[in-house]
Amino acid sequence: VWNNCLEFIKDNIQPQAYKTWFEPIKAVKLTENALNIQVPSKFFYEWLEEHYVKILKVALTKELGESAKLVYIIKMENTYGNKQPYTERIPSTQRTAVKAQDVDVPFNNKNPELKNPFVIPGIRNIKIESQLNPNYSFENFLEGDSNRLARNASIAVANKPGGTSFNPLLIFGGVGLGKTHLAHAIGVDIKDKYPEKTVLYISAEKFTQQYIEAVKKNNRNDFIHFYQIIDVLIIDDVQFFSGKTGTQDVFFHIFNHLHQNGKQVILTSDKAPVDMIDIEQRLLSRFKWGLSAELQTPDFETRVSILRNKLYRDGVEMPDDVVEYVAKNIKTNVRELEGAIISLIAQSSFNKKEITLGLAREIVEKFVKNTKREVSIDYIQKVVSDYFQMDINTLQSKTRKRHIVQARQLAMFFAKKYTKASLASIGSQIGQRDHATVLHACKTVDNLTTTDKQFRKYVDDLSKKLSM
Ligand code: ADP
Ligand code: MG
Repeated sequence: VWNNCLEFIKDNIQPQAYKTWFEPIKAVKLTENALNIQVPSKFFYEWLEEHYVKILKVALTKELGESAKLVYIIKMENTYGNKQPYTERIPSTQRTAVKAQDVDVPFNNKNPELKNPFVIPGIRNIKIESQLNPNYSFENFLEGDSNRLARNASIAVANKPGGTSFNPLLIFGGVGLGKTHLAHAIGVDIKDKYPEKTVLYISAEKFTQQYIEAVKKNNRNDFIHFYQIIDVLIIDDVQFFSGKTGTQDVFFHIFNHLHQNGKQVILTSDKAPVDMIDIEQRLLSRFKWGLSAELQTPDFETRVSILRNKLYRDGVEMPDDVVEYVAKNIKTNVRELEGAIISLIAQSSFNKKEITLGLAREIVEKFVKNTKREVSIDYIQKVVSDYFQMDINTLQSKTRKRHIVQARQLAMFFAKKYTKASLASIGSQIGQRDHATVLHACKTVDNLTTTDKQFRKYVDDLSKKLSM
């Protein structure tokens, strides 16, 4: 079946594109109407979905009929070549083959959730999949001034999980600065050094979903029990817990149990504990027990080494001036830095253009345009007051009229969300209020967003306007 599909696709697209995007695919199995294909990376899969979903659909429908389905299996090859020090520490028989992740996607669903790989909690001796991505290693996490403390603390924790004063270890910092990477790296390294330890990586969001599910099924105790048998618990993006008191409660219990038993807890967050909103005090104080280490934006040198390392691992050559140009112009987010390089490679391979400074300029320009610029509080007030057709003075006034109060609270909420300004400074810029008022505004917006449909629409509309 797949060979027939390939024939068809080959006749209909550019030979170079065929070579790049279809030759590496392996057909794995066919069940009824679903063809399982294996692709080398998540990026690869996303690219196929974005660019070739139509032709894939046509080809497959021809073979299997209207109900044809395609299942991608993302197989991350172990990219550590023998040159990398990492592999030298592991005897090759022990080197775990990377788990294939099944992604069952309906056509044109761009954001598939990875399947929940969890075993039912409550049974002892279950094998827990660590959910770690071995590409996120310490070796691949380049050190610089911006991350030295966080990286070294992470290494210390990985060497002696539960045995340092960094418990919990909280890694915090802005989007795309490597929190998730570092959190995985700790787990990966622990699994390597202490294969008998049970390590679990989970996002705060998934943890919350599981908990809600458990409560629904009357399994709260099983849920707690499941987490209490873990040796190293890594929870990513704990800011997600904000406002979710049930989840915070259960996490508090689990945390205490693990901590008392010398188990290691690793957390990441987009904010420092002092700036976290709507997290119970007793949890915040636990967060501060260990070490909070910040990831800052990397300096130019570090950005260059991150790019060089990535190119080296992907086996791609790129002129120095191009690498430096990209590193110079994309400053605040490592994910975007990598994204620009990937586009550059893709563009050049598609159009058979050489990777030149000129091409880099085109691509970087697009990236910089698309990335969110830092918006100012003035700008936020302008957008919000325009949206509600009032002027800024009204928005800032002392009136208690409901719709004006709401507009003001929204402005405060977005100022908190989109700027780095402190609560106090937001308050003083939006109508001379104090920091408690701003905090209250943020909570109110959070609450109303979940309970009030109309209000939710305001928030969505404004988010769109502000991120344009
Ligand atoms: P966050 O979780 O903070 O949003 P991620 O951990 O997802 O960020 O990092 C975004 C991307 O940047 C990942 O691909 C990661 O590998 C890469 N990255 C971030 N910092 C570094 C670094 N110091 N060295 C190498 N890669 C990095
Ligand atoms: Mg992350």
